[in-house]
Amino acid sequence: MTDDRMPLSPDDIQRFGSDPLSSFRANLAAVEERIARACARAGRDRPSVRLLPVTKTVPAHILRLAFEAGIHSFGENRIQEAVSKREALGDLAIDWSIVGHLQTNKVKVLTRFAREFHALDSLRRADLLNERLEREDRFLDVFVQVNTSGEESKFGLHPDALLPFVDTLKSFPRLKPRGLMTLALFSSDMAKVRPCFTLLRRLRDEVVRHDAKLTELSMGMSGDYEEAIEEGATVVRVGQAIFGKRPTPDGHYWPGFAGSAQPT
Ligand SMILES: *Cc1c(COP(=O)(O)O)cnc(C)c1O
Repeated sequence: MTDDRMPLSPDDIQRFGSDPLSSFRANLAAVEERIARACARAGRDRPSVRLLPVTKTVPAHILRLAFEAGIHSFGENRIQEAVSKREALGDLAIDWSIVGHLQTNKVKVLTRFAREFHALDSLRRADLLNERLEREDRFLDVFVQVNTSGEESKFGLHPDALLPFVDTLKSFPRLKPRGLMTLALFSSDMAKVRPCFTLLRRLRDEVVRHDAKLTELSMGMSGDYEEAIEEGATVVRVGQAIFGKRPTPDGHYWPGFAGSAQPT
């Protein structure tokens, strides 16, 4: 089995170490442990939280090792990247989630293979998605993205726009709204980050009265997933804590994000 693996390049080794499989296993175990402890602190059951590993920038041949380490759901930010990895990994049973902003011209690609979309924030895209899903006779789980940090640059609905949005979603039968999603303030100061999570939970408690299926909260990343779980997250989207630091600055993925480094 080991013999089938693509040999690691010097770049791979620099980024993922000489034994990525073992590192991924160890990192995953550490994240699992932290999730379990956060659940215990919050008086929640472990199964109430789903870990969605975010695989963006990790090359396909390395993702084979992640798969071997037990990671079978991949969260990708960009459609094009997801599509090319899916082609390279077509022999593996992977669930694909798209967690980032969707350009309208990528809608028809997404609907072909994704199981979940975490960043729905426009009715125009909801309409286009619904139409394509209809044609392909598929359904899609969606999370409505809310801007909880008040930063201009962030995608997501203004909290005031959420209720009417959620009501309108009912006219798109191919979309299965599951809950809300947010990107919290990008800061290492949890006193500033946590209110984003609290706000999303409050909004969920409100919208769930309009649509009983909107129970989920997709919030929390490598730097703040424990706080998110304490505030009620049902899905945490974790990349770097499993796969190591990304070489690309996050502004590459989140337009308007000026930071060049990781939170300190
Ligand atoms: C990259 C990304 C994450 C994960 O971030 P990490 O810092 O790698 O844990 C979560 N959500 C979205 C939308 C992302 O693009």
